[in-house]
Amino acid sequence: MSSLPMPVLFVGHGSPMNAIEDNAWSRTWRELGQRLRRPRAVLCVSAHWETAGPKLTGNAQPDTLHDFYGFPQALFDVQYRAPGDHALAQRAADLLGDADARIDPRRGLDHGVWSVLLPMYPDADIPVVQLGIDTRSPGDGHYALARRLVPLRDEGVLILASGNIVHNLRLFDYHATVGEPWATGFRDAVNDHVRAGRHAALADWRSLADATLAIPTPEHYIPLLYALANIREGDGIAFFNDDVRGSMSMTSLLIGSP
Ligand code: ZN
Repeated sequence: MSSLPMPVLFVGHGSPMNAIEDNAWSRTWRELGQRLRRPRAVLCVSAHWETAGPKLTGNAQPDTLHDFYGFPQALFDVQYRAPGDHALAQRAADLLGDADARIDPRRGLDHGVWSVLLPMYPDADIPVVQLGIDTRSPGDGHYALARRLVPLRDEGVLILASGNIVHNLRLFDYHATVGEPWATGFRDAVNDHVRAGRHAALADWRSLADATLAIPTPEHYIPLLYALANIREGDGIAFFNDDVRGSMSMTSLLIGSP
């Protein structure tokens, strides 16, 4: 194991089709998988598993969840067969401590996880554990919970948070080539807060201008807080895929040393 802590990723995942389409975003994910130090395991937080209380996947061979509709059969045919890691789930639950995280032995991996991991680690040979998003928790509660996971970075674990900083599907236009002005403005404001380390402002996302347009429901935004909470002093932050299309931002962060 390297003495350097593992990096942390926030990835804007966008459409599930990015899992199987060769485009600028999925190519970046593929390159990341080759460029980053190989993790012992991946701990994911995705927009697509909302839970009552913190929960972790504990299955030794988690299923591939096709939690969407209206997409080509090829996407439903994808199987991402990465093993689980019950010991890591238990370790994460211990770190979360009195938050009383429960390990779910049946839950599989949602597309927010595998659409990114398929291009990144196509061999599916790195164990994956997923942490759900506790819908009862306020923003600063998510941030405080996520901070408890920081030691995992010294244990060879890649923390991968998967969502979208701007995500309004009701207003989404698949043919958009540029961002809506309010979407680009919201992305810019969030990026400024990230660069300045204003995490409390980001945890209080309802106070951000145009938040009701940019994140009418917060599940795609909240994973950002999990990534930010795992920043350590001295970590660099590199933005990538920093694109806005219509009402969605693909903005992503690589935190720490690759
Ligand atoms: Zn999504």
